[in-house]
Amino acid sequence: MEQSNYSIRITPHRCAGCYRCVRACSTGAIIIRDRRASIAQDECTRCGTCRKACPHGMISVRDDVDAVRRLLRTSDKVFASLDPAWIGSFPGIVPQRLIEALTLLGFSGVGETLLGHVKYDEATREQLQRHPRLAISTTCPVAVRLIRYHYPEQAERLLPLAHPAVLHARMIRHWQGQTTKVVYITPCIAAKSNPDEISELDAVVTFDELRRWMHEDGVEFDLIPGNDSYRFEPGEADCQPHRMPDSIASRFTFSGMEAIRRILEETAVWPAADGREPILLELFGCTGGCDGAQTQQEKDIPTVARTWARQRYYNERRPENPVYKLPFIPTVASYPPRPAERFRVAASQIDAALASIGKFTERDMHNCNGCGYETCREFARALCIGRAEPEMCLSYTRALAQKKFSSLLKRMPSGVLLTDADLKIVEANRNAARLLGPQAEQLFDSRQGLHGADLRELAPFADLLRQVLDSGGEIAEQDIRLKGKLLHISAFTVEPHRLAGALVSNLALRGIQSDEMIERTRRVIRENLETVQQIACLLGENASRTEAILNSIVTAAADESGKK
Ligand code: SF4
Ligand code: SF4
Ligand code: SF4
Repeated sequence: MEQSNYSIRITPHRCAGCYRCVRACSTGAIIIRDRRASIAQDECTRCGTCRKACPHGMISVRDDVDAVRRLLRTSDKVFASLDPAWIGSFPGIVPQRLIEALTLLGFSGVGETLLGHVKYDEATREQLQRHPRLAISTTCPVAVRLIRYHYPEQAERLLPLAHPAVLHARMIRHWQGQTTKVVYITPCIAAKSNPDEISELDAVVTFDELRRWMHEDGVEFDLIPGNDSYRFEPGEADCQPHRMPDSIASRFTFSGMEAIRRILEETAVWPAADGREPILLELFGCTGGCDGAQTQQEKDIPTVARTWARQRYYNERRPENPVYKLPFIPTVASYPPRPAERFRVAASQIDAALASIGKFTERDMHNCNGCGYETCREFARALCIGRAEPEMCLSYTRALAQKKFSSLLKRMPSGVLLTDADLKIVEANRNAARLLGPQAEQLFDSRQGLHGADLRELAPFADLLRQVLDSGGEIAEQDIRLKGKLLHISAFTVEPHRLAGALVSNLALRGIQSDEMIERTRRVIRENLETVQQIACLLGENASRTEAILNSIVTAAADESGKK
């Protein structure tokens, strides 16, 4: 199915391949292919953590405003079910104004989702009185998906009750007729359903979407008086959200993906419901519960401020038209386990994958998290199941870049060497060693690339590089006679005061290197140095560009030789 139809999706062609979403996703639902991220939808809890983590804004939530506009145009009666979290997200707005705004947008009526919460609490009480046990609440779709997909062995503990918004929708249809459409207005992106799911809610729009919609349709709070005749239908809930009497069960509430995952990992130490006192575990995907569900435009309102606003509002509210008696409606829902595809990977496969990225011993396992996975082994497992690519491993990519650099250097027709600020050779090709004489050539074989050798001990032109390093200037040139050969040295800066390079050519064999060739060589070296320092995702592009430049040098050199 097209990713674009899902409620959380990634724009693949604009993904920068930075792997931040891989790091953020605690369920491993991000797939990287061709350095582009996508979501394994059947494993995704829709927690939205990856969306917050993506620095490029490539992960988005499906906008359902147009679908609701269509629904309003084509349906006789469309009701809004307004989540109780609205009060913290629309500071300073009284309910009458919000209800009027929704009416102006075309809704036939607005009801409080809170009525669904009251029903949910009633049903929970019944459930736990009838079967005292340790049960897990099903009010957070993220927690429910996390359990069904990733902790399926705990699915039997999920209360078989529909989400409060669904219960409210059932009540609305009981009062308004079964054909009434219901749109849930909520801070919760996870309440949106995917195209392959059946939902009793006709649509879900977030508070962000509602704000944008109001703005587009010219429905601004400043212009709405908030006439008293606008009321919740059929009235207000006579309670506070999430206020089931504590005496019914011992309640434990945990919020945030990390916290709830930890709880689900620690089942061995869960308290045992002893048959008299049931236990209710309330798990919320967002830190701070639904008040912490920060949609894009609300991130400036701290969670605690929203919780406080909500609690104060419901504590102080004196319902004018309270709904004391809720209708009898079915409350059931079922949450069978739906284990995410578990890929079995043998230890030998993981070892082979580790070897393919140059990791043979524990010392090779940097566990640096550069790839987005906590450990090299987890990354290797992801490689085995096709979730990841070797280039995501920083150390592998650096080694690869280094190898490519060395092999490209080898192909250069002139002698090339690089030194650090202490005139220690960082890298050199064999041609350079050959031109410097037998001692350098011998050393080249024992120390790959003359690495670490002191230039002052090998060449009489160390001062030229010193001069370039000290000045940080561009190019210095010198002709020298060395062991019967007349050499032309072009010294140049790679990184001012830190790294210098020299192009060494035998004047007896060929002409002086042109400025252009020096410039090309310098570019090659600079780009490769940057490459080895950069993150994995940049490798492919730089390496191919470098190769093209080098090839042009080789060709130019061949042309010059041909002319001679
Ligand atoms: S929404 Fe959550 S579970 Fe889904 S891919 Fe993003 S971080 Fe992972
Ligand atoms: S976080 Fe990085 S890898 Fe993930 S979708 Fe955004 S740009 Fe792509
Ligand atoms: S905590 Fe609330 S807002 Fe967040 S995912 Fe769960 S139900 Fe939705």
